[in-house]
Amino acid sequence: MRGLIQDRPLLISSQIEYAGTYHGDVEIVSRTVEGPIHRTNYREINLRSKKLAQALARLGVEFGDRVGTLAWNGYRHLEIYFGVSGMGCVCHTINPRLFPEQIAYIANHAEDKVIFTDLTFVPLLEAIASELGSVQHFVIMTDEAHMPETSLPNVICYETLVEAENGEYDWPVFDEMTASSLCYTSGTTGNPKGVLYAHRSTILHSYCVCTNDGLGVCNADTILPVVPMFHANAWGIPYAAAMSGAKMVMPGSEMDGKSIYELMEAEGVTLSAGVPTVWLMLLGYVKENSLKFSTMNRTVIGGSAAPRSMIETFVNEYGVNVIHAWGMTEMSPLGTTGNLLKKHQDLPGDKQIDIRLKQGRTVFNVDLKIVDDEGNEQPRDGVAFGRLLVRGPWITSGYFKAEGGSVVDEEGWFDTGDVATLDPDGYMQITDRSKDVIKSGGEWISSIDVENEAVGCPGIVEAAVIAVPHPKWDERPLVIAVKEEGHSVTKEDVLHHLENTLAKWQLPDDVVFVDELPHTATGKLLKTALREQFKDYKLPTA
Ligand code: ADP
Repeated sequence: MRGLIQDRPLLISSQIEYAGTYHGDVEIVSRTVEGPIHRTNYREINLRSKKLAQALARLGVEFGDRVGTLAWNGYRHLEIYFGVSGMGCVCHTINPRLFPEQIAYIANHAEDKVIFTDLTFVPLLEAIASELGSVQHFVIMTDEAHMPETSLPNVICYETLVEAENGEYDWPVFDEMTASSLCYTSGTTGNPKGVLYAHRSTILHSYCVCTNDGLGVCNADTILPVVPMFHANAWGIPYAAAMSGAKMVMPGSEMDGKSIYELMEAEGVTLSAGVPTVWLMLLGYVKENSLKFSTMNRTVIGGSAAPRSMIETFVNEYGVNVIHAWGMTEMSPLGTTGNLLKKHQDLPGDKQIDIRLKQGRTVFNVDLKIVDDEGNEQPRDGVAFGRLLVRGPWITSGYFKAEGGSVVDEEGWFDTGDVATLDPDGYMQITDRSKDVIKSGGEWISSIDVENEAVGCPGIVEAAVIAVPHPKWDERPLVIAVKEEGHSVTKEDVLHHLENTLAKWQLPDDVVFVDELPHTATGKLLKTALREQFKDYKLPTA
């Protein structure tokens, strides 16, 4: 028997329509590429998203077409998010930090019909425009006064395009499984692959972001997402903010400590979200200038592991709650969030930090399990570790155009590529990426553990640990480190330092120093490049 409840599809347009209707005066504040701080509100964003949908239809963009963006976090990008998805097209956010060849590959693979670009990325697009066969229009996200000289063909000014329309437009109603947005993973191996989100998955994920045990986004918040809108939909914050009517503060291209801090204080930010590198810059600035956060009460840290010292500084020195979160582009992206449970509330501060250091607790609607190499499920005891598998209604079922073939098993589990422990309360802790773990004589050595210890050695600023073939043990760890400028730290110093915390069999076999380490477009260590560079490296122990 089916329930007698209205079958209204879950659509992204409903979020901005709600915000525009019931939170019309709530502000969206953006630091613009042109310079000044810009202020608008949800009423205007809703209206201009509709005008944008009208304009795109006039340009010949049809239901299901892909529309690309190369843009920072700002109000026009928000209008594109809602306008493009709202009309039934696919908002394809492109990461401008990728190599130009990768950007061309992605835009061609997605068959973007229109590309919207901030002024910053016009030169980047000019260099590859001749390769972008599917693109019919380039829209520069500025007004006539700031339009640059450009060699881009078929160029349109955003403000002229949008303001030519009247906004008398009803959001269309269609199947909630319709594709809404597209985001390519950075492709540390092989070509980038597209994750294609649906309206339904986006709405369900937004509800999760708004739960207290998710990120707790609500109307009382003023949110500053430093995490870019081109990186896993800024962790879903733009959608969740609209359906809560939360004020948004958009940092544009300025992500240094000073710029972020000034925005936080000027706009009364209560919640922020970003990767550890960004918070390192922010905390550095705040410390150097003996400042404090007067309104921020919590911050989400994700993308890579939040170091203990960072969590301690936020919580103990500044009274800012840290939500350590884990997820991935393939997961919309939320999988776990690091809120404490009721039973943890009376624990001493240090013990609470131990819990916050884990990557967080499983959120409702994301199933997690860990398995060994044979696929056998491992116990949820916080000790056993294994490959981390996930499934749920906002997790990918396959990449765009079936790239990479089937990615889920018969029971619908998706392999995250992470290696982790799970405890009885659902807290998950990443121990490594499965391709980075070092398999030595039947034991697994976590490259991340060794890296974390190595950067704690005085004189070391950054360290990567990779597996190098070994005749007896199969693989052994090699540390590749960057020295602090002018520091005379030696290989022996590093090994001596590691002896304090690592078991003998986990100790690296060698340490080499380099001037810099390679990174991916999202700022993570590019270990594939290091493995290639050191593939013939002979360990002194071999
Ligand atoms: P990309 O592949 O573009 O770097 P993702 O943002 O999708 O993009 O990366 C997902 C991966 O990032 C996860 O599988 C995990 O390895 C890592 N990651 C994300 N959050 C954390 C975290 N809090 N701690 C450790 N690793 C994390």
